[in-house]
Amino acid sequence: MILSELHKFLFDGMPVRGMIVRLTQPWTEILARRASNSTTGAYPPPVVELLGEMTAAATLIQANIKFNGALILQVFGDGPVKIAVAEVQADLSLRATAKVMGTIPDNAHLSEMVNVHSKGRCAITLDPKDKVPGQQPYQGVVPLVGDHNDKFGKLSDVLQHYMLKSEQLDTTLVLAADDKVAAGLLIQRLPVKGEANLARSGIAEAHQDQIGLNEDYNRISVLASSLTRDELLTLDVDTILHRLFWEEKVLRFEPQAGLLGPHFACTCSRDRVAGMIRGLGIVEAEEILAERGDIEVGCDFCGKQYRFDAVDAAQIFKSPGDQPPGTPIVQ
Ligand SMILES: [Zn+2]
Repeated sequence: MILSELHKFLFDGMPVRGMIVRLTQPWTEILARRASNSTTGAYPPPVVELLGEMTAAATLIQANIKFNGALILQVFGDGPVKIAVAEVQADLSLRATAKVMGTIPDNAHLSEMVNVHSKGRCAITLDPKDKVPGQQPYQGVVPLVGDHNDKFGKLSDVLQHYMLKSEQLDTTLVLAADDKVAAGLLIQRLPVKGEANLARSGIAEAHQDQIGLNEDYNRISVLASSLTRDELLTLDVDTILHRLFWEEKVLRFEPQAGLLGPHFACTCSRDRVAGMIRGLGIVEAEEILAERGDIEVGCDFCGKQYRFDAVDAAQIFKSPGDQPPGTPIVQ
């Protein structure tokens, strides 16, 4: 079995860093769980590609910023894909799901799935692990259109735009996914600062630091962008790095694999589902109980079923506990 792996590297003496992720087992696990759901069935191929690219991208962004909490990448669609979510924790455990309504042709493009009327949105949420009371997660949202209202054709274009707009960071992303592998390459320009620039005047330094103006970054970005979807899906990381950057001096770190690398895990729990039912309110919960005898909630991410009978439900509303109300999609 090929392990999922995350590789980080630097370009020696240049303000540029990079990362490659290849998700195999965690990705096929996500797809298999969905396929075994008798209500939804498997994802159509274009959704496999979109959700896989999102999962690879979310892993890269989480590993890049090392956020102590959940990084949640969401696409809110105005087409047949209503929502797609990829969530990655600080330990690189990850999960993903998508809500699909209606049929999706095998050759559907990004905009036909999530941006039919240019109303699609992409959001990145950072939800801290140890929240202080009243603390809200940070969320940045961008439309799925560029500065001239042109629809983005690829998820990587959306995310590059997001990084520029909300983080002021030059970022190059190459993403690809099929039903076996979800993979991504990230190249990012680091803000220029520190010893190497002490000799430069303040003005030159500021200029150097501007978006799009670093020659090293621009050259490496062009090289990175030449990586094709097929190469990213089929070649091993050593081969990819050699093929792209054989003329550059690449400093590599020890790859993260196995449990130290990206792996599947769902954070759903009976307590969190109970919190969600509490959020529904007692009236609605009692209506469901009267109609069906119990309240059954399935986790959208892992497929686990949670069942609450009338006694369980009474318990939920008797003791409010300290669980915040959940939302249907984040359990
Ligand atoms: Zn779950």
